[in-house]
Amino acid sequence: MLKDPSLLKQAALVGEHWIPADDTGIVVTNPATGETIGCVPSLGGAETEAAIKAADAAQKLWAAKTAKERSIILRRWYDLVIENADDLALILTLEQGKPLAEAKGEILYGASFIEWFAEEARRVYGDVIPGHAEDKRIVVIKQPIGVVAAITPWNFPNAMITRKAGPALAAGCAMVLKPAEQTPFSAIALAVLAQRAGLPDGLLSVITGPARAIGAVMTGSEKVRKLTFTGSTPVGVELMRQCAPTVKKLALELGGNAPFIVFDDADLDAAVEGAIISKFRNNGQTCVCANRIYVQSGVYEAFAQKLAAKLSTLKVGNGLEQDTIFGPLIDDKAIAKVEEHITDATSKGASLMCGGSVHALGGTFFEPTVLTGVTQDMAIASEETFGPVAPLFRFEEDADVVAMSNDTEFGLASYFYTRDLARAWMVGEQLEYGMVGINTGLISTAEAPFGGIKSSGLGREGSRYGIEEFIEIKYLCFGGI
Ligand code: ADP
Repeated sequence: MLKDPSLLKQAALVGEHWIPADDTGIVVTNPATGETIGCVPSLGGAETEAAIKAADAAQKLWAAKTAKERSIILRRWYDLVIENADDLALILTLEQGKPLAEAKGEILYGASFIEWFAEEARRVYGDVIPGHAEDKRIVVIKQPIGVVAAITPWNFPNAMITRKAGPALAAGCAMVLKPAEQTPFSAIALAVLAQRAGLPDGLLSVITGPARAIGAVMTGSEKVRKLTFTGSTPVGVELMRQCAPTVKKLALELGGNAPFIVFDDADLDAAVEGAIISKFRNNGQTCVCANRIYVQSGVYEAFAQKLAAKLSTLKVGNGLEQDTIFGPLIDDKAIAKVEEHITDATSKGASLMCGGSVHALGGTFFEPTVLTGVTQDMAIASEETFGPVAPLFRFEEDADVVAMSNDTEFGLASYFYTRDLARAWMVGEQLEYGMVGINTGLISTAEAPFGGIKSSGLGREGSRYGIEEFIEIKYLCFGGI
């Protein structure tokens, strides 16, 4: 079915060497069918060391190139991703489960980071600062941080890689990547295309294998100067701890617990549409998914009915089938979490308006679910569900909903719907989140800084700020002038 079968490569890339999977390899399965897609090698500390060594050597030559030379190669990589978007989307759906159209959307979104940072590569400007003495001049230059380790999750197997590799390579860094064990083929396909684009050997390695062993070498290495991670907060905290002895720069995109607020004056149809995009994209399996939907009393029933009615028209199924909107969840653990949240909420007084069970298709397919009468004491109010459950909380006053929204350790995305300009400003300022969607459920784009505060992480990805994460500032003091 792939136009170019060589993109589904059953091998990892260590420096310049492709290491094929053997019979000790990791089996990758399709979450929609349970079928085996292929195998990747189970590599460990030694291969990670070798990749870091290759990255260190390659990075010095890469950094010495002009920004334009780097930009041209990145642009070629972008073009190849676009040319092969259908194949990349198919690989993504096979290993991750999201519907093909959504997978294609992720490939284009992922590619946009390579394009954006290919452009930004040439705009890493320094500064000349008026000095403090007549015989001195102060100049600030910006240099690549060096070798970067990246660890990425399964929910965006393509875009979470390009969002890191794009700016890192543009800045003049090298990257050693460990993709999620569930979705390595999307990462490997990107590396195949990067090679075809002319990216010099050693600048991008893809190491597959046990996370802990690979992570320990990455975080312990003196040569690795930065770790960029997207995943859960507990793992992020552990990696942060492991990076402390070598004082690495860190970028962490961790968990979220996004509030989605619907005020009485909102355009309700737009709010329902936004809630579906925000809550149910990737079947609820994104860190910016609405996790708590707060609806003001005056529109609570109307909103709940419109939401449930709309959900009943959307198809659950294999992502390769036409019209599928909801694919399978990634695995049984994900199903268990969803069921746990529903049981906890209903046992404490919430009601099921629709859904609530494993779908008739079985496996890891789950019915899109709406819960009403949800309150702050339920587990779903404080924990990330990562599944297709929309819990509706009722509120009366602006101040109450802001306080409830902020009552979480997380601070990644938040959303609200209102037509009142003053309220939009006030609530936008008061929400303690890195990102606020106002009358929209979709906020991610290469042009904007993506990232969170509090336990949701450190740093920003995308935008002109994204490249700064891979840069060190150096100050040159010229004396004796
Ligand atoms: P999720 O629950 O979304 O799988 P994780 O934080 O467990 O989130 O995983 C995100 C990424 O972190 C994956 O690539 C995973 O393999 C990796 N990972 C998990 N545990 C560790 C660890 N102890 N050290 C390094 N990487 C890890």
